Amino acid sequence: MKLGFNEATCMNNSTLERDLELCEKYGYDYIEIRLDMLADYLKTHTLAELKSFFDGARIKPYAFNSIEDINFASPEKQHEVDELFLFACHAAQSIGNPYIIVVPTMREDMKDKSEKEVFEDSVKVLKRMAQIAAPYSVRLAFEPIGDPRWCVRSLRQCMEIINAVDLPEVGVALDAFNLYLYDELRDMGDIDAVPLEKLFVYHIDDCEDRPLRQLDHCHRLIPGEGIIPLDDISNKLKAKGYEQIASVELFRPEYWERDAESVIREAAEKTRRFL
Ligand code: ZN
Repeated sequence: MKLGFNEATCMNNSTLERDLELCEKYGYDYIEIRLDMLADYLKTHTLAELKSFFDGARIKPYAFNSIEDINFASPEKQHEVDELFLFACHAAQSIGNPYIIVVPTMREDMKDKSEKEVFEDSVKVLKRMAQIAAPYSVRLAFEPIGDPRWCVRSLRQCMEIINAVDLPEVGVALDAFNLYLYDELRDMGDIDAVPLEKLFVYHIDDCEDRPLRQLDHCHRLIPGEGIIPLDDISNKLKAKGYEQIASVELFRPEYWERDAESVIREAAEKTRRFL
């Protein structure tokens, strides 16, 4: 697999420019750009400048993060999501970024939705988004998040939706922490069931040893530092023939307190053994 850096990891102690420079220096193959950090970059730069950086660099863009709250949106929210999504499609096409990460809605009332309601809404919304994205040649990676506040939580539920959408442009972003958050990865068989052609993105991240009811994104750790069976997950993906990104995506405030260079260097060193 190829080493990737997700900009969440240093979102509060770096910039897109700095991430690009450091990731190139430490040998990352891919970067997943955050749309808010891209918007900041574009205050003083252009997409043409970003494209020209990638043309001359080893590192390449892989996936934008992320279009969120796509389910059960009010008309106002839908308008907001559509605007960001169109901006992402345009930017992706301009710099040759192939994927956009799409995240199910997080809201307190999601707990009250039945799985059938979530299935029907997700299929409808993803088909519509795929249609919008088609002219831009960008593909959508739908990412289940195990916490009960999100409406699509398990890999099984996510794959049922993706299989029903049945479009080559729609696949899954498999995030080790987000799967752990659902049921401590009790059923690793769900990973075997993902067809290779639907596996678009792998977020590789570890976490602290805490009960599920306490565990949150701030407890993510650099791969190899925690309790998630990342060797098993990575080996399953490799056995399937997956050779694309393994991207370090951490939301740990402690890492945001550090110098970005030390985090980016350490993450590269410690993640390589899983590739
Ligand atoms: Zn993720």
